[in-house]
Amino acid sequence: MAAVETDRDAPSALCSEFLNFSAKDTAAKWLQVSNLPKEVYQHLACYVPKIYCLGPNLNPQNEDLLAPLLLQSPLEWYLCGEEPSVGLAKLEQNNQPSQLCGHVFKVGEPTYSCRECAADPTCVLCMQCFLGSVHKEHRYRMTTSGGGGFCDCGDTEAWKKGPYCQKHEPNISDSSQKDPLANLSDEMIARTYNVFSIILKYAVDMLTWEKEDELPEGLEPPARGDTYYCMLFNDEVHTYEQVIYTLQKAVNCTQKEAVSFATTVDRDGRKSVRFGDFQFCEQAKSVIVRNTSRQTKPLRVQVMHSSVVAHQCFALKALTWLGQIIRYSDALRRILCQVGLQRGPEGENSSLVDTLMLCDSKMWKGARNVYHQLFMSSLLMDTKYKKLFAIQFAKNYERLQSDYVKDDHDREFSVTDLSVQMFTVPSLARMLITEENLMTTIIRTFMDHLRHRDLHGHFQFERYTAQQAFKFRRVQSLIGDLKYVLISRPTEWTDQLREKYLEGFSAFLELLKCMQGMDPVVRQVGQHIEMEPEWEAAFTLQMKLTHIISMMQEWCSSDERVLIEAYKKCLSALTHCHSGFTDGEQPITLSMCGHSVDTIRYCVSQEKVSIHLPLSRLLAGLHALLSKTEVAYRFPELLPLSELSPPMLIEHPLRCLVLCAQVHAGMWRRNGFSLVNQIYYYHNVKCRVEMFDKDLSMLQAGASMMDPNHFLMIMLSRFELYHIFSSADCRKRYNRENANKDVVQQNNTLIEEMLHLVIMIVGERYTAGVGQVECFDEIRREIVHQLCIRPMAHSELVKALPENENKETGMERVIDSVALFKKPGVTGKGLYKLRPESAKMFNLYFHHYSRADQSKAEEAQRKIKRQNGEDSVLPPPVLPRFCPLFASLVNILQCDVLLGILGAVLQWAMEPSGGHWSESMLQRVLHLIGMGLVEEQQHLLSSAEDNDTNFNFTLKISRPGEAPANTPSILALLETLQNAPHLEVHKDMIRWILKVKLIQISLQSHLIGSTVRDKDKAERKRKAEMARLRREKIMAQMSEMQRHFINENKELFQQSLEELDPSTSSTLDSCDSTLFCVGPRRWRAGGSDRRQVVTCILCQEEQEIRIDGKAMVLAAFVQRSTVMSKNRKRPPHNPDKYDPLFMHPDLSFGTHTGSCGHIMHSHCWQRYFEAVQAKEQRRQQRLRVHTSYDVENGEFLCPLCECLSNTVIPLLPLTKTSCRYCNKHTLDFDLQLQWLNITSLQMKALLSAHRKAKAADADGVDDMDGVNDCPPPDGFKLDYTPKNPYSSTIKEMLTTFGTATYKVGLKVHPNEQDPRVPIMCWGSCAYTIQSIERLLVDEEKPLFGSLPCRQDDCLSSLTRFGSACWTVSSHATVQNHFIRLLAALVPDPRVENTPCILDIDMFHLLVSLVLSHPAVFSLDSSGLSADTAQLHFLHLVTVAHIVQILLSSVPEEVQMEQESGGAEREEEEKVCMFYNTLRTHLGSGLREVDSGWHLWCCVKAGILPYLRAAALFFHYLNGAPAPPELHSVGEWEALCGYLCLPSNLLQLFYNNRELMEPLLHGWCSHPGVRSSSVHYSTISYFRFPRESNHLIELPGDYSALINQASSFTCPKSGGDKSRAPTLCLVCGAMLCSQSYCCQSELEGVDVGACTAHTFACGAGVGIFLRVRESQVLFLAGKTKGCFYAPPYLDDYGETDQGLRRGNPLHLCQERYRKIQKLWRQHSITEEIGHAQEANQTLVGIDWQHL
Ligand SMILES: [Zn+2]
Ligand SMILES: [Zn+2]
Ligand SMILES: [Zn+2]
Ligand SMILES: [Zn+2]
Ligand SMILES: [Zn+2]
Ligand SMILES: [Zn+2]
Ligand SMILES: [Zn+2]
Repeated sequence: MAAVETDRDAPSALCSEFLNFSAKDTAAKWLQVSNLPKEVYQHLACYVPKIYCLGPNLNPQNEDLLAPLLLQSPLEWYLCGEEPSVGLAKLEQNNQPSQLCGHVFKVGEPTYSCRECAADPTCVLCMQCFLGSVHKEHRYRMTTSGGGGFCDCGDTEAWKKGPYCQKHEPNISDSSQKDPLANLSDEMIARTYNVFSIILKYAVDMLTWEKEDELPEGLEPPARGDTYYCMLFNDEVHTYEQVIYTLQKAVNCTQKEAVSFATTVDRDGRKSVRFGDFQFCEQAKSVIVRNTSRQTKPLRVQVMHSSVVAHQCFALKALTWLGQIIRYSDALRRILCQVGLQRGPEGENSSLVDTLMLCDSKMWKGARNVYHQLFMSSLLMDTKYKKLFAIQFAKNYERLQSDYVKDDHDREFSVTDLSVQMFTVPSLARMLITEENLMTTIIRTFMDHLRHRDLHGHFQFERYTAQQAFKFRRVQSLIGDLKYVLISRPTEWTDQLREKYLEGFSAFLELLKCMQGMDPVVRQVGQHIEMEPEWEAAFTLQMKLTHIISMMQEWCSSDERVLIEAYKKCLSALTHCHSGFTDGEQPITLSMCGHSVDTIRYCVSQEKVSIHLPLSRLLAGLHALLSKTEVAYRFPELLPLSELSPPMLIEHPLRCLVLCAQVHAGMWRRNGFSLVNQIYYYHNVKCRVEMFDKDLSMLQAGASMMDPNHFLMIMLSRFELYHIFSSADCRKRYNRENANKDVVQQNNTLIEEMLHLVIMIVGERYTAGVGQVECFDEIRREIVHQLCIRPMAHSELVKALPENENKETGMERVIDSVALFKKPGVTGKGLYKLRPESAKMFNLYFHHYSRADQSKAEEAQRKIKRQNGEDSVLPPPVLPRFCPLFASLVNILQCDVLLGILGAVLQWAMEPSGGHWSESMLQRVLHLIGMGLVEEQQHLLSSAEDNDTNFNFTLKISRPGEAPANTPSILALLETLQNAPHLEVHKDMIRWILKVKLIQISLQSHLIGSTVRDKDKAERKRKAEMARLRREKIMAQMSEMQRHFINENKELFQQSLEELDPSTSSTLDSCDSTLFCVGPRRWRAGGSDRRQVVTCILCQEEQEIRIDGKAMVLAAFVQRSTVMSKNRKRPPHNPDKYDPLFMHPDLSFGTHTGSCGHIMHSHCWQRYFEAVQAKEQRRQQRLRVHTSYDVENGEFLCPLCECLSNTVIPLLPLTKTSCRYCNKHTLDFDLQLQWLNITSLQMKALLSAHRKAKAADADGVDDMDGVNDCPPPDGFKLDYTPKNPYSSTIKEMLTTFGTATYKVGLKVHPNEQDPRVPIMCWGSCAYTIQSIERLLVDEEKPLFGSLPCRQDDCLSSLTRFGSACWTVSSHATVQNHFIRLLAALVPDPRVENTPCILDIDMFHLLVSLVLSHPAVFSLDSSGLSADTAQLHFLHLVTVAHIVQILLSSVPEEVQMEQESGGAEREEEEKVCMFYNTLRTHLGSGLREVDSGWHLWCCVKAGILPYLRAAALFFHYLNGAPAPPELHSVGEWEALCGYLCLPSNLLQLFYNNRELMEPLLHGWCSHPGVRSSSVHYSTISYFRFPRESNHLIELPGDYSALINQASSFTCPKSGGDKSRAPTLCLVCGAMLCSQSYCCQSELEGVDVGACTAHTFACGAGVGIFLRVRESQVLFLAGKTKGCFYAPPYLDDYGETDQGLRRGNPLHLCQERYRKIQKLWRQHSITEEIGHAQEANQTLVGIDWQHL
């Protein structure tokens, strides 16, 4: 450890030396010396170890300060020959900025690619370039970068058009040809050359240096101490946890340090974990190695001398410096490229660049990153050197790839990843193919790495070890490189290119040869297969090669000579593979219907068969391409067709198709899932283009060259059906052999499959080259057939279509011609619907339909036809014509063997099926006959032009069968079948056939058939039109009827408490025409109105709501809320100490109560809840699964609607209106004073009584002196205990709900005795009313009449509960609350801790006063009225609120004075006077405002929400119906009237000045008001009216969000990118979610950043947007959450959760508002509950870790 000590002193000793150092002098010295490299090395040897690596930490700050000063500065001086800042500026002036943008992408940064103009999908733009490009108006794709790679803006080869953005548009003067070095002096060039070669050499030497304890020659430090680092390197084998655990053991660090070490190792590739003498480090190394070597290879650890580490650190800095310095000038960049690529002493491939590349896999991640970046900013930015670099890269290709395959780092950290930057440039790729034979090199390298072969030389993946499997995965990246090279087809071919391409093609054929016939299967008979054989590897390879195979064909197709050569090569490869296919087989002869053919004896069900036939399929592809060429039309003799043996060509594809048919028929069940999966992928959209489709093409090609009878016989033989149809009496077959039901069944399926295959061979003509079509005809047909199944969203269609190598389906070009787009609503997706006229293309036997698709499509199409009033027959469509090479295929339809087969099946169908034929079989036969007729029709129609038609189907089917003689003809059979009762379903098709036949015959006899048809058509059309009109009329009638029904039976649709709500049931039957909801003159319910009967949802019994009856309850959900918060920064309260009596006007935390409105008996509910509890306990013991609700926390689901609930609210009748002096009072303001005086006296008496009692309890008599004994006023009985009027069950429920509100609202344990219970209940009542008032404003709905029943019911029971809850609390407690509440309005010196009126939410105060008052009022028998008291409270609080508004909310700037009418004048005067009174009370604190209009506006706007909330409150409390004016918007006068307030609110003050003045004085002299009045104008978090909170504004374009998130770094792990940046939609905070780094502890549990944030921001409820996933996340508490569709849609009306499709996304305001509404309604938790109930997997997610 001694060495460490001395080193610590070193810096200070060196300080003076550093101060005396002059970069200029050093540079000057260097200019003189003869051996510059030696001199510079000496300098580095001296200084580098003095600056770098002096302590345990590798990157202290002084390194960053000293290195530029001592090391870089002399280099820059030398280079510039003058002050570097001056010299570099000069360089910059002459710089020709590169036209390439070259912006290197960060992880998660958005990238854009144009689907229309990009040469390939790897061509991307950065956001800046994209926004300035033409492509933003095109169809583009947006993705997030995985890091690495750069912007291709300015690369003319990357873009078909618009290669430059506005910024990178080149100058008109063509400067690109000029040599950038021309601007530099020779001396400068020489100096730069010197510096660059020395520094680059130094860096390369150091980064590739492998010795741990020595340095290269010339760099040995002058003095060396015993200081070492124990360096830990990254590998991809060990997990984070393993490394953390090992480190804690080995170097004795805390877990936190270990996590930080592990993170750095993962990021930079290495990290020193210990610093000290050699022994000390060696010891740590051995512990780490020992600990990690058990299962796998150990972690790599090196003990390195500090000077070695120091030089490596500086080497990295030097490379970065080079990267920076060349940015000043393209000339410098070019010199650096020259230096880098200059051939070294060891000859070829020894340049510095080569050395770096070849050592790539030995370097640590950090070093690789730095030099890759340098390559990108130098070699790849210089067009000339990019080419030279690409050549070197290609020369080293094999070595680099081998190194990569052995290495274990991801490809993004390998130099091989740069291939994309060169190979995708068409000109470079072409050059590399011709000059460096790159294609062959890649394929050979690939083959070299897959050496594991079976006896026949096929790839064998069966017994792969883990290591081989790993290697197989890595080697696949080579296929990616091959794809890059091939991605753009040549437009011009040179001989050299032809030669090299064909050489590459040959190499590729070698590869395919190894695949032809791999993974063969043999049918398992007897017992089930023991082990599922490996099949995935082979299919992975096939899938990866799919695009390559297609591209190879495209290349071939672009040059006829190449195509023919390739065809020959492919054919000879195939012949070579199957040369021995008849070996050892006896040829057999098949004969049928007078034809015979030789073939081999082969049974798919008994011998080996393979699905992998890439050579056959490639040949099939090339054959179709050949057929398109001119040669095929004009000189077919030039084609190598004569060498073909058609039976050989079809043999293997046919076997494969038969295999599928047999699997279908259940013959291969014992072979397990491996085979089922292979068959699935064989047909799957990802593989079929180069598998199934090509097999079909090959059969078509083969059949077209054969006699159709021969072809069909071979086919029958391979299907193992030959014996059935070849026997002389095959038409009676099933009478003979009914022996084995299973076999008959099997054969039936095989016959169906065989017939289907015939249909496809003749009918699939949409491949260019097979039929006379263009490639978009093919896509159009695919789309039509998908949409025939059902209307589909864009993404569904994309999934169903094959993508090309550019990830395009080509759909956009054709979709609009066949489909109509329907936009989505607030939910759902946009859908494409088939245009009716496109349905005529529908083919029931479309080759890409699965059986399920087929039956769905059939059903859908028949339904549509029936709806249109048409015949529901689905005849075969009219097909395009075959190309000449395939033209003979149509003859299959009229050949004897097929007609024999058709006849046999029809004959079987004469009798009802006893299992000897099947419906599908018959349907296929009819379809084939239909195809024959349609074909014939086409021939007849075109025969006018070319008169050589010998297709005569009608004639053939009219002929009687041959053997045995006199069998009926096909037509005769059909005529008979037409009337067979068992063939009802097929009748329409048979009738269609017979009808078409008639037309045909008439056509043939040259009658004017066309007019007949036209007439027929016109008639049908007329009928269809009539049917449509009739249908429309019926539909209209029906929907009208439906509307009526709903209107008339509204009650049925909404179970509600309507009887209970007088506002809807009874209208104005009060004596007064004016309706008041409060005060002595308020509306009172008559007896009948008060009777309410409800039904229990559990037992269905009716129950009247009575004070003394059985309790009825509403399911309810109480939750904490910050939805209305105006101050999210307020720290959460301490739940044990917090006094909730006064709500702060910032409403930072509230308690919200909601209900689904469903009513139960309390005892029914209790029984239900107990059952839920018991069930849950059992379930947890058994399964340990969670539910969407937390029973232990009292949660349950409403038994009717499954809405999440956590308590119940008791239903109460309207409070008794025992109005003792009712209606006698007029509103007399003198009385208010009098009332207040009496109340004050009462309070005084009560207060002293309480104090006395308290003092007595506390056993002190001494305190008695301080308490004045106040006698109570008349009629006020201090010792009176009012009787509780409620029944015991109601009392119980009052306690239940009160306790639940208290528990949830304060997050405490339930305690029904706690004095805060009633306060929380009043608070919840007030908060809920306020939030609903806001909701109504936000949705622009009137105050009354628009609430849904559930909210109406909830508010009414909540308010009534509020007025009753005091009865189950300690009366003294409630009285005491009342005293404190009143003291806030009527200052009372004896009450302490009264907040100032600026710190009180007035509505909460009003509600609490009114609801706590009964506890005091019950003692009074003096004859005061409770109603009067309510009115007085309202008046007092209203005045206080006006004061509050004037003090806090008068805006800064006074608007223009407005003229107004007389009525308003008075209010304006009054408010001015009032304001000035306030100013006199407060002194200069209050700003001078002389616009009364302005003040009045302010008051009116500020107080409106309060008045509305008060109206709601008294409405529900007293049951007074609302006047009709309040059922619409616009309301001031009506509102004041309803509340019994003067519409000039200032009168409340002026009519009662005597009372009010002292109160005003009291409020204003509160110290709180005085202190805040100084800065009241700066109180910014709220003003009255408090505006509704919004979710944050989101940008219209989603990529703006991605961009924002990509620059977001984790706040905890210094500058690292966050993997899951997540945006809080409530406050806009960006969080680092789902990551170790940002976990924190919350109530004893580790939680992720989102969960932690919800507790601060949303009181446990959170709404987030996961930016990388484009997904909304709802969280509630620590255990609940769900994902929700984001408000961003693509142009097709779809969301892109997971951002997989990359379509541009735009904000959908409607959907965002819907999310906002869920939030404002407090429905997030409910939404989560429903989502979790619907999808149980959501319950299992650890939401708290997000
Ligand atoms: Zn760019
Ligand atoms: Zn650009
Ligand atoms: Zn474009
Ligand atoms: Zn019940
Ligand atoms: Zn419910
Ligand atoms: Zn937030
Ligand atoms: Zn983090």
